[in-house]
Amino acid sequence: MTEPTAGHDPQERLEAYRAKRDFSVTAEPEGSKWGTASGRFVVQRHRARRLHYDVRLEVDGVLASWAVPKGPTLDPHARQLAVHVEDHPIEYFDFEGVIPKGEYGGGDVIVWDWGTWEPAGTDEPGRAIQRGELHFDVRGEKLAGRFVLVRRDRDRSGKEQWLLLHKKDDHARPGWDPEDHPRSVKSGRTNDEVAAAPETLWRSDLPAGEAAVPLAAGPPPSWDPPTGDELDALEAMGKAGRWAVGGREVKLTNLDKVLFPPRGEEAAVTKRDLVRYHAVIAPFMLPYLFDRPVNLHRYPDGVDRPGFWHKEVPGHAPEWLNRWRNVEADPGETEWYAVVDSVPALVWMANYGAVELHPWTSRLPDVHRPTWALIDIDPGPRSSFEDVLVLARLYRTALDHLGVAAMPKVTGQRGVQIWVPISFSYGFDDTRAWVEKVSRAVGRTVPDLVSWEWHKDRREGLARLDYTQNAINKTLVAPFSARPAAGAPVSVPIEWDELDDPALRPDRWTIITVGERVRELGDPLAPLVGRHQQLPAL
Ligand code: MN
Repeated sequence: MTEPTAGHDPQERLEAYRAKRDFSVTAEPEGSKWGTASGRFVVQRHRARRLHYDVRLEVDGVLASWAVPKGPTLDPHARQLAVHVEDHPIEYFDFEGVIPKGEYGGGDVIVWDWGTWEPAGTDEPGRAIQRGELHFDVRGEKLAGRFVLVRRDRDRSGKEQWLLLHKKDDHARPGWDPEDHPRSVKSGRTNDEVAAAPETLWRSDLPAGEAAVPLAAGPPPSWDPPTGDELDALEAMGKAGRWAVGGREVKLTNLDKVLFPPRGEEAAVTKRDLVRYHAVIAPFMLPYLFDRPVNLHRYPDGVDRPGFWHKEVPGHAPEWLNRWRNVEADPGETEWYAVVDSVPALVWMANYGAVELHPWTSRLPDVHRPTWALIDIDPGPRSSFEDVLVLARLYRTALDHLGVAAMPKVTGQRGVQIWVPISFSYGFDDTRAWVEKVSRAVGRTVPDLVSWEWHKDRREGLARLDYTQNAINKTLVAPFSARPAAGAPVSVPIEWDELDDPALRPDRWTIITVGERVRELGDPLAPLVGRHQQLPAL
């Protein structure tokens, strides 16, 4: 018998973890044959609308379940309310992670205890549950000894209210409180820690065997810039050719074509310049593109001519260009999107005239879960850049007050955006509502600068705080993407205090000049990529 233990020592937790992993592999459900064979039990600490502990006993191939608001205890004097809830699938046994907000049970879950259990005084626990009284012995890491579940009543919703109590036996501990033992027996983590960096998402809309979706977590991979020899080969190339870069050959065409007219005294910018820029900036830009579908704003004939949106990967795209298929696409909608996740893929996009790259805010595999909440300060014709800065500084104050990590970036045109990294536990309804609330609060302090009119011609030239971009397949331009204007200006993440720099301009940096900045200062937004952040309630 295991003595109840909080398991705070990491080594001890790890050993317990390994032991239980082996155990959970070998203790596969033995069908519905019960007799004296023991089954598994699990207690999950679940923070949904209200904190509760889910006590689950493996019975007849499912997890018979009770929600216990105060949690199971070894205290023999306690009588805990236990609401009998629906059976859960066996696959839920060791689930630890997040359930999306807005879905049933939305919140975070840890495996608070697990082990084996045996019915006492009956060979037919399923029947005992039907009759409304089950005595059973558990052997867990925290819980041990004889428990009793007994039905008392139904609540207004028709749910059965039971009582859970611990018998006076050798394992009883008067005064024992489950809240004093908050860590997961599976990972050693608390609910807060799991919510901050969940590894698994439970999708109850999927079959139980597929419902636990692993979340891509942690920092993105890193990419090497092109070598000096590779860059020399690009300069030496004529108008067209095949460029060997990043382990691939990319077919390049019309390299000397002017894509961007000159800005002031600056030189015109050619397609060769854009190709080189995409290769050199790749280590900084790819963290925002990889694992995401991308919408392209193409200007194959140069930015003096009208551009157009392009999403479907063309048939002539190379085999090695990664793609994602949108199985939810209606007829006529884009089905295959490019996923730009390598230096050659970014180079191919430049040659394709994809001046602007707009990655989705959600990341594969679950495109319904954004990883960024986006704030878009969209200036109107009458807004000055000083107005935009006033608004950006108000967001800075608001986010700082809320303790939310975020970074601004200049758009390369006239505006400023603020990118807020978030945990996978949100849907687009959540991010849109949250950004709207923050934006309404900001807008209220400067009503002369902001319009909430949907139609542009009713905005009287004022700025719009556009929260509606927080939706599937709506996007903002990627950090370090070029913009379709003279001189090839670039959207660039900046530090918060650069908002106070009198030399700041929204189109200050171009594809020719931004390299020097990132070599010296790096990318202030980079540390926030992949950060799992909870959005505070407003
Ligand atoms: Mn629950």
